[in-house]
Amino acid sequence: MPVARKKTSTTRSLRTADRLARLGLSSDMALVLHLPLRYEDETQLLSIANASLRHGQPVQVEGVVTDCDVQYRPRRQLVVTLADDTGRLTLRFLNFYGSQATQMAVGRRLRVRGDLRHGFFGDEMVHPSVRPVDEDTPLPEALTPVYPAGEGLSQTLLRKAITNAMTRIDWSDTLPPELRARLRLMSFEPAVRLLHQPPPDIDAYALAERSHPAWIRMKFDELLAQQLSMKRAQAARRQQGAPVLDQAGTLTSALLAALPFSLTGAQQRVLQEIRADLTAPFPMQRLLQGDVGSGKTVVATLAAAQAIDSGYQAALMAPTEILAEQHFRKIASWMTPLGVNVAWLTGSLKKKDKDDARARIESGEARLVVGTHALIQQDVDFARLGLVIVDEQHRFGVAQRLTLRNKGVGSVPHQLMMSATPIPRTLAMTYYADLEVSVIDELPPGRTPIVTRLIAQERRDEVVGRVHAAALEGRQVYWVCPLIEESEVLQLQTATDTHALLSAALPDLKVGLVHGRMKPADKQAVMDGFARGELHLLVATTVIEVGVDVPNASLMVIEHAERFGLSQLHQLRGRVGRGAAASACLLMFQGPLGPVAKERLAIMRETSDGFEIARRDLEIRGPGEFLGARQSGQAMLRFADLETDQWLVEHARQAAQDLLANRPEVADAHLARWLGAREDFLRA
Ligand code: ADP
Ligand code: MG
Repeated sequence: MPVARKKTSTTRSLRTADRLARLGLSSDMALVLHLPLRYEDETQLLSIANASLRHGQPVQVEGVVTDCDVQYRPRRQLVVTLADDTGRLTLRFLNFYGSQATQMAVGRRLRVRGDLRHGFFGDEMVHPSVRPVDEDTPLPEALTPVYPAGEGLSQTLLRKAITNAMTRIDWSDTLPPELRARLRLMSFEPAVRLLHQPPPDIDAYALAERSHPAWIRMKFDELLAQQLSMKRAQAARRQQGAPVLDQAGTLTSALLAALPFSLTGAQQRVLQEIRADLTAPFPMQRLLQGDVGSGKTVVATLAAAQAIDSGYQAALMAPTEILAEQHFRKIASWMTPLGVNVAWLTGSLKKKDKDDARARIESGEARLVVGTHALIQQDVDFARLGLVIVDEQHRFGVAQRLTLRNKGVGSVPHQLMMSATPIPRTLAMTYYADLEVSVIDELPPGRTPIVTRLIAQERRDEVVGRVHAAALEGRQVYWVCPLIEESEVLQLQTATDTHALLSAALPDLKVGLVHGRMKPADKQAVMDGFARGELHLLVATTVIEVGVDVPNASLMVIEHAERFGLSQLHQLRGRVGRGAAASACLLMFQGPLGPVAKERLAIMRETSDGFEIARRDLEIRGPGEFLGARQSGQAMLRFADLETDQWLVEHARQAAQDLLANRPEVADAHLARWLGAREDFLRA
């Protein structure tokens, strides 16, 4: 029998280890750094009479079971009566095990904690937490931590594992005393112990808000580890060789001379930044941010020209066929007359054309390659890839961007990432600390501001009338169908229905339809027709969101704007306002709107500055969701909050720089503690 019992306990603890590992808790340090989400105060005991004065609040009482029954009406439940000298209380359990009934047999003394409410038969608690106790079981002296838990991991188990781990870890402080003194940071050990076992007289508010010095210390440590790991990654990148692209020569000057416009000041500035990077012997990793329509493509093309002038190839990857083709046409129209062989590669090409493109890429005959994900397929080999450009970078996964970068031969190509979705500064600093960032903060001249109006869905007929009038004036119109996130089929259906309805309502107009499920060639045919002015009105899903450039389109209608994200609305709206005509965007919404939805749409009406929109969006939604949308799969900070702890990010950044330069051994120790604890925790 003892043998069998031993075996059971081993299997059980193995399973526990697995479950802990699933939460990333496979070392003692990881367990110790698994900090509570919140606390329960079990240090106070109220009499049942006093507890009944505190309705709706969590209270703890102790008493003896006087009754324990399974009732069947209105549904099966366990009903227990608990009494002390001052009164009695009903405990109700809708789901329960037989063992619970035994635990709460008549005569047992129980300590229960839960929210008290007035029931039909007097005071009751539904599903309280229950602990069998003796008359002299002491009350805990510290608040009880509640940890983030996973499937099959009880709080009891986590508490035990963490308490045990605390007896085994190395408690030394990784931060030098001067740094702690300068930033007035708490020491590591007391901070950690306090967070796992806070004394009952602690400032509960500061603890809950995570503004208590103990939390500040943990957040600082976490941010410092993140900054250190990113700085290290940056340094490692600098160790890799990259082609030196230092010949901004004939092609570059010919291209500049051939452009039908001159660069804005902002374009010139960012181009200088990129050019300097390209001449370095280690790979550039630069993010080019610029609002919709700020003119990133030409900057990217000039960077490509420098690569070509230096004897290398450049590749530009875009997230959709529509966008890739548009880039190809524009870039080819600039470069082909200058004698540059530009290749075009997407998944939808005929096999023969694909083979031909691949051969030209492999031989080096194609100096510039534009395409979609097709560029990162295994069978695409570059002869001398020197520069990789990724448009709308947030649409690609990290792995996809890396695959393209790995297409270099013998060295790592430079990488330029572009995005019209600006990342607020704090986020850029924390999540892209290993990226250089260039910003185009000026639009080309001659753009007319877009007037944005909010219109209730009920006034759809009026909107249709406005569309009609605009079309008769020779303006072109986009009509964006409502987003239906749950179902692509429904989304498609809506687009088709909208197209049919508008075609019927506007019989004298030519109305086109474009959506994501169309064959690329058909999609392109529609887009071309619209670009050539053969269609008055283009009904579209969000496939037109990125990059589509038809200057004569000056009115956009978006249905159910309240369903879209702000950056998505901004991107969509950026499809108009590209020509000389005054442009308008009509955001139709289905009321009534909640306060948040109202505020979000108001932002769209008030500003057309993408950075401002992103900043305010971040304010409303918080960075978690903001990042979640586009950084999915990337580990988030666990303790620090990028909004409220912005000041700490700055300190952590400086400290990281300082430690790496002057105390590398300290940086190592700190990283080992925080990264070693949970390897995938921070972005390396
Ligand atoms: P985005 O930054 O959104 O990718 P694009 O590169 O597509 O913007 O540029 C938008 C439009 O502005 C294009 O038609 C482009 O040719 C034009 N453009 C770019 N730079 C300038 C400039 N300096 N002056 C005038 N027009 C420009
Ligand atoms: Mg673009």
